[in-house]
Amino acid sequence: VVDSATRLLTYNGAALQMLGLPMPRPGDSVLDLNRTEDFRQMVERALAGEHSSCTIQDDSRSYQMMANPATQGDSVIGAVIVILDVTEQTERERLRREFTANVSHELKTPLTSISGFAELMKSGTVAAADVVDFSTTIYDEAQRLIVLVNDIIKLSELDEGEQRYEWEDVDLYGLSAEILHRLAPAAERNSVMLRLTGGSACARGVPKILDEMIYNLCDNAIKYNKQGGSVEVSVLRTVSGVRLTVRDTGIGIPLAHQSRVFERFYRVDKSHSKEIGGTGLGLSIVKHGAMYHGAELSLESAVDRGTTVTLYFRSKPRDFLAAKEREI
Ligand code: ADP
Repeated sequence: VVDSATRLLTYNGAALQMLGLPMPRPGDSVLDLNRTEDFRQMVERALAGEHSSCTIQDDSRSYQMMANPATQGDSVIGAVIVILDVTEQTERERLRREFTANVSHELKTPLTSISGFAELMKSGTVAAADVVDFSTTIYDEAQRLIVLVNDIIKLSELDEGEQRYEWEDVDLYGLSAEILHRLAPAAERNSVMLRLTGGSACARGVPKILDEMIYNLCDNAIKYNKQGGSVEVSVLRTVSGVRLTVRDTGIGIPLAHQSRVFERFYRVDKSHSKEIGGTGLGLSIVKHGAMYHGAELSLESAVDRGTTVTLYFRSKPRDFLAAKEREI
């Protein structure tokens, strides 16, 4: 709160802490706290009787500042300035914009190719021998689009977070067995051996999302493997939850990329991923699914040695106590 001469009358600790400022001395002007032109104009406008606001950015955070005049009768006797930390909101907006730009780009490439080949065929100048090749390309690109759009739908459903999914007790061992069965032909094509260890263990969750998460992890473990490599899925019940691990003996992920592979459309080797049918969204779906279930997600990897991704579903203390009671 400032008086009509911009002198600070009162402030709370949070404001100083947010802006990383030292304790002001009595009589200091609020304009000494932030020397940007935008801030000065905002304070001046409020003292002239108008509501005003501005956004201030420091190295890592964004603040929205709002100033309102404080009046007595007809005269402005000071102003109240409110500072909101909007870093997360700004970051979310940036990510959303970036996602839209990436989606458009990812959709455009296969569409351009489909349109180009279809135009050639439409002109009637394509030799009969090339028709199969051209239509195969159109079909493959259309399939890629379908996979991509399905992944985008899954992610936006998770983003919405509101979708009313039914939560159930899901046996992660049984679910993993079923997923490995589905992936057996792909593993065979890549000469990768699949193994499931551990035993039956239930976690509370949404079967459809858990299926997508485990499927994506196993699919990656096969795709980024080497001829003759292996994938082991283990499901273990611990005292406080269920640990599901997908371990492969594949190409691994360089350290510099490990923290980024969960970002949307992030691929270590973009052309290799596209060649083998990747969308760059698989691990984002795993990450969002884990967040949705409150599961812990971790990744360890060494180049040329392999990758291990672990999901840890912690039982709620209540479930744990109920289980203990049953044991007693
Ligand atoms: P994609 O559809 O490209 O597989 P993901 O989001 O599933 O997208 O994975 C992002 C990137 O992380 C992949 O392009 C790949 O470079 C890397 N990656 C994911 N899983 C593995 C793995 N098990 N081994 C090696 N690299 C992996």
